[in-house]
Amino acid sequence: MEIHYTEREKFIFNIISQASTQLGLPCYILGGFVRDKIIGRPTQDADIMCVGDGIALAHQVAALLQPRPQVAYFKNFGTAQIKTEDLEIEFVGARKESYRDHSRNPDVEPGTLEDDQLRRDFTINALAISLNQTDYGTLIDPFNGLRDIREKRIQTPTDPLQTFSDDPLRMMRAIRFASQLQFTIAAGTFEAIRQDAERIRIISQERITEELNKIILSPKPSVGFNLLYKSGLLSIIFPQMVDLAGAEYIDGKGHKDNFHHTLQVLDNISEHTGDLWLRWAAVLHDIAKPATKKFEKGHGWTFHGHEVVGGRMVPKIFSRLKLPQNDKMRFVRKMVELHLRPISVTRENITDSAIRRLLFDAGEDMESLMTLCEADITSKNRQKVKKYLENFELVRQRLKEVEEKDNIRNWQPPVTGEMIMEKFGLPPSKVVGDLKNAIREAILDGVIENSYEAAYSFMMEKAREIDLVAVK
Ligand code: ATP
Repeated sequence: MEIHYTEREKFIFNIISQASTQLGLPCYILGGFVRDKIIGRPTQDADIMCVGDGIALAHQVAALLQPRPQVAYFKNFGTAQIKTEDLEIEFVGARKESYRDHSRNPDVEPGTLEDDQLRRDFTINALAISLNQTDYGTLIDPFNGLRDIREKRIQTPTDPLQTFSDDPLRMMRAIRFASQLQFTIAAGTFEAIRQDAERIRIISQERITEELNKIILSPKPSVGFNLLYKSGLLSIIFPQMVDLAGAEYIDGKGHKDNFHHTLQVLDNISEHTGDLWLRWAAVLHDIAKPATKKFEKGHGWTFHGHEVVGGRMVPKIFSRLKLPQNDKMRFVRKMVELHLRPISVTRENITDSAIRRLLFDAGEDMESLMTLCEADITSKNRQKVKKYLENFELVRQRLKEVEEKDNIRNWQPPVTGEMIMEKFGLPPSKVVGDLKNAIREAILDGVIENSYEAAYSFMMEKAREIDLVAVK
């Protein structure tokens, strides 16, 4: 097995080998670094496992490096970290673990290389490379991890039921790796996830969500979501999404399965953006379809207002999943709320003011909104897809025209609150806000032109209506 190290990696691993000889502590590169090197994925950090005191080894390594790096160490965990230019190295002593029922935190004692490999979650994560002089560079692969990498398979090194019961987070990790690497999960391993799914409840929401985010960021996130769904994990960790699944029929009329539609939109958008939050918007864009679904006689299925109700669900879902309650959440909410608007402006005879209002509402997120809308086209009819895409192209053109005309993104009306206060000798007050809003709405509705003169005379007219007297 040929592994291609960078010059920097070769240099660092040599130093580690020297340090380990000096201290008489056998050591190995272990886990994700080895896996990723074999697969050919980029690597930025390496875990070094030594049979003995990992912190002592880290200090010895630091002493051999020029300039001498800082060693960050955590006595309680027996781990240490050195950051060098393009490689971060974690040192840890080999451990043997035993689990008790109620917790994912095991009892830990010092162990051998074999003990440490045995506590790894998957065969592909249990590969080690020796850094010892006698067999430097040798791959130590007791569980056939190399074969599983070649055959693109995720499986546990030992009894999967026990592995997942010991630490249920591993179920999420299995699915996350399957989604990131586009591997399949071995039948026995997947069956164990199905059986152990309920135990995910002992894992903290933060950790579950971290894995969920990694699934969403994977090249084809539907792989992960389908596995979450089939294993039963999704209904525990994210039930609103499971509610999207299935199609109901009345009078022979059905609607599309919104779970599969959502996953298709998510896969589509993932080809155009690596932004986690825009991908989240794809996940949530139709989340209120089950809640708003109605069958109207003679008309069929409708989901009126699902964008508004969906928008309201965003903060609740973010809070439950312990996602941030900040501008990221507000961005996702805005995308959900606006996701039908560009379609509505594809109709003919759309006025400049409708386009202007859309630009104003979407602001700097207009491009993201268009990306979402384009991903939302999932028809199997090629002609339809072509027509929809052409319509969106027209919307983009109209947006550009109006944008150029009045530069509406991040726009402020030409008459400001300060001007109003000065003109009428008013302190900051409700009437100032009302006047300013009236001007803005008049421009957005196309009642008046977007210019200082038009805004000024409109302001004077409104002021007369409410008997305001100009002081200058
Ligand atoms: P990534 O870096 O892509 O997030 P990774 O598995 O390479 O994933 P870590 O999560 O830091 O990175 O884990 C490093 C190694 O530790 C893994 O390769 C695996 O051997 C082991 N490991 C991590 N978490 C667990 C776990 N919950 N159970 C068993 N082994 C684990």
